Amino acid sequence: MNLDINSSHLKRAAELLRKSKRAVALTGAGISTPSGIPDFRSPHTGLWDKVNPMEVSSLMSFRYNPEKFFEWSRPLTALILDAVPNPAHIGLAQLEETNHLVAVVTQNIDNLHYRAGSKRVFEVHGHIRESTCVNCYQKVAAEKHIRIFIEQGITPRCEECGGILKPDVVLFGEQLPFNVVNEAHQAIATSDLMIVIGSSLEVTPVALFPLDALSAGAKLIIINEEPTYLDERADVVFHNCAAKVVPRLVEEVLHE
Ligand code: NAD
Repeated sequence: MNLDINSSHLKRAAELLRKSKRAVALTGAGISTPSGIPDFRSPHTGLWDKVNPMEVSSLMSFRYNPEKFFEWSRPLTALILDAVPNPAHIGLAQLEETNHLVAVVTQNIDNLHYRAGSKRVFEVHGHIRESTCVNCYQKVAAEKHIRIFIEQGITPRCEECGGILKPDVVLFGEQLPFNVVNEAHQAIATSDLMIVIGSSLEVTPVALFPLDALSAGAKLIIINEEPTYLDERADVVFHNCAAKVVPRLVEEVLHE
């Protein structure tokens, strides 16, 4: 990772943002690592370094062995519930507030964009605010039973029928929420600038969203500690921490 932020890159990115009328941010787990939530693919610290994802977080494994999923997700969920938005989340909310950003499309399930004040957020991999009973499909607010699970290790169950409560997050092998993805697509297809922040761009279909933006004629800014497959096609690339770049970018845009 580069510690120095290139100031000419900053000026160029700010210029793109000031000129754009329909900028969309696409965020991934890397925007939340400065809030203390590990991502999946960072070398050494990423969660996939430690487990086989298909064994713990696929829909199939959840059906057969929900306890294993809950046990694996316990430390991550505890971190998410206690995390607070960092300057990158807050910067995006400021850009929306000042009409420099029309939407955030996020792969994150941690709720930190809403908590930072963003209003138009498309959570294409779901979120942890609610859970659904796998038996009777009743939807419930998740925080209470997740906290009980974290503190006492009791697997969350539906109060109506006793079925397992599955968090409304998209597992491997599960459909993405259709309406949310549709709205995200509309924002992307009409965007004139996409800012990718903290995503390895390795998880499809989201990894392909920037291609849709490029096809629509949008410019592309990438802020990610590690290189991505689209760096060569981007107008500006920062290999720096998002929590350092985004606030500097916002400052440059708002107080040139
Ligand atoms: P990923 O783990 O594949 O990639 C994260 C990327 O962020 C890496 O390339 C890394 O270099 C970069 N990064 C890490 N810290 C950074 C920082 N401070 N500043 C800039 N870049 C940073 O994550 P992904 O692309 O979002 O895809 C993986 C899946 O992980 C998604 O489906 C998502 O739902 C899930 N996930 C979400 C959370 C969360 O909600 N916070 C946490 C872990 C995983």
